[in-house]
Amino acid sequence: MRILVSNDDGVTAPGLMMLANELTAIAQVEVVAPDRNHSGASNSLTLHAPLRTRQLDNGYHCVEGTPTDCVHLALSGLLIDPVDIVISGINQGANLGDDILYSGTVAAAMEGRTLGLPALAVSLIGRENPQHYQTAAVIIRDLVLKLRKSFISAQTILNINVPDLPLDQIKGMQVTRLGVRHKAEPVIKAEDPRGRAMYWIGLPGAEADSSLGTDFHAVNQGYVSITPLHMDMTHHKISADLTTWLHS
Ligand code: MN
Repeated sequence: MRILVSNDDGVTAPGLMMLANELTAIAQVEVVAPDRNHSGASNSLTLHAPLRTRQLDNGYHCVEGTPTDCVHLALSGLLIDPVDIVISGINQGANLGDDILYSGTVAAAMEGRTLGLPALAVSLIGRENPQHYQTAAVIIRDLVLKLRKSFISAQTILNINVPDLPLDQIKGMQVTRLGVRHKAEPVIKAEDPRGRAMYWIGLPGAEADSSLGTDFHAVNQGYVSITPLHMDMTHHKISADLTTWLHS
């Protein structure tokens, strides 16, 4: 089995190395990751500049581009041998609810899925300095062993969030739906040395729907959350009402 590992935190991120090292015990691993932190890059592709790559001493491919660039490039020309699965992470910080719209971690997995492969996105809860990457790495290794026997439905990305706990304190795994956040905190306004205004994007909003069944709820209770995602954003439930409204 050959696994492509990528991320959005950049090629030197601890979660990436932890994941790649753990998976090396059970599969051939190729790492293709951005040269710097691209968290929040979503599904952006670099279309107006070439993508330069270099291979580091540890064998990882480092790309001057976004997470989506990395997976696209890896699967469309950079890697010679075919890959069986794409795994993105382990991200430093949660990707829960609305986060997935902005997430470069989820985007890298989506690109793998778009190019026809099973894909996992993996995130460790904890914004500042999460400790237990090894917990997430072991959980993913075991999931990959299970996936090797059989993968669930095509066109599905698994968005996996792991509480920042030692492995023996994880209560189990739950299949969840995306929760909802309140709108983001306001931007922070500041001034540069020349007196010009500048802004920092604010923090994500607090939990708005973290009820039973959501990804928020699972991780808050000490469970690993696994949310199946697909890319059809059509709001099917409202199509009939929209047709009536349009023609009324
Ligand atoms: Mn990130």
